[in-house]
Amino acid sequence: MSGRLAVIGLGPGDPRYLTAEAADALAEAQALYGYGPYLDRMPARAGQSRHPSDNREETARAGEALRHAAQGGRVAVVSGGDPGVFAMAAAICEQIETGPDAWRALDVVVVPGITAMLAVAARIGAPLGHDFCALSLSDNLKPWPLIERRLDAAAEAGFVIALYNPVSHARPWQFGNAVERLRRHLPATTPVVFGRAVGRRDERVDITTLSAADDTPAGAAPVDMATLVIVGTRETRVIARPGRQPLVYTPRAATEVSA
Ligand code: SAH
Repeated sequence: MSGRLAVIGLGPGDPRYLTAEAADALAEAQALYGYGPYLDRMPARAGQSRHPSDNREETARAGEALRHAAQGGRVAVVSGGDPGVFAMAAAICEQIETGPDAWRALDVVVVPGITAMLAVAARIGAPLGHDFCALSLSDNLKPWPLIERRLDAAAEAGFVIALYNPVSHARPWQFGNAVERLRRHLPATTPVVFGRAVGRRDERVDITTLSAADDTPAGAAPVDMATLVIVGTRETRVIARPGRQPLVYTPRAATEVSA
């Protein structure tokens, strides 16, 4: 009996962002594994078991899901956004590479989802309209000096930068440090977008500049674990509009050789 493991992206929160493929894969699963609050968003289904875990327990969760699938079950592991972006698909691959041979025989399917940076970008215009990169500011799995090197290189090379995991309770200083780092390379006026809980009821999108990005004036969006930050380039533009939110975009063409 060959088991099946589907690694499913749920999108950023709004059920309309769940793809039809993801909905089918969820309906077919006999067991659901994932971060508790993600599982809570899904309607209960008869005969489907749930296995919630903490969001810092990705490796253990991957192992449990693989063991379950290897017993012949149809198992689904869910991730917010896309499962391949700072999420469970890589954790599953790591376990398959080092785990028992039987795990290599499993039917493994990765079902893509809309990742946070695309949802945030869409809310505000087209900040990712030119070359861009994505960086996680979490130093749980990599040393902070490496993050600093990548920030320097990305800003220096003129990439728009999407910052995932900007802060957490255990990592309060990283975002301020990253902003300070980016200011060495980019003008103070560089547009910065904060997208918080996009696709959920408490969604909030704010535009600021690199010089004010680490201020937290009253009423401003707090940068927290549910926030995705997009830092523009020298080319990124903000179009003011009467009575409407500005449009932020990065033109498709670039002229300068360096940032
Ligand atoms: N796999 C996820 C990312 C997981 S890392 C994806 O593809 O989106 C977790 C980080 O993603 C958060 O710290 C935050 O930076 C970002 N994020 C996830 N959901 C978000 C949402 N609805 N709105 C804004 N940012 C979000």
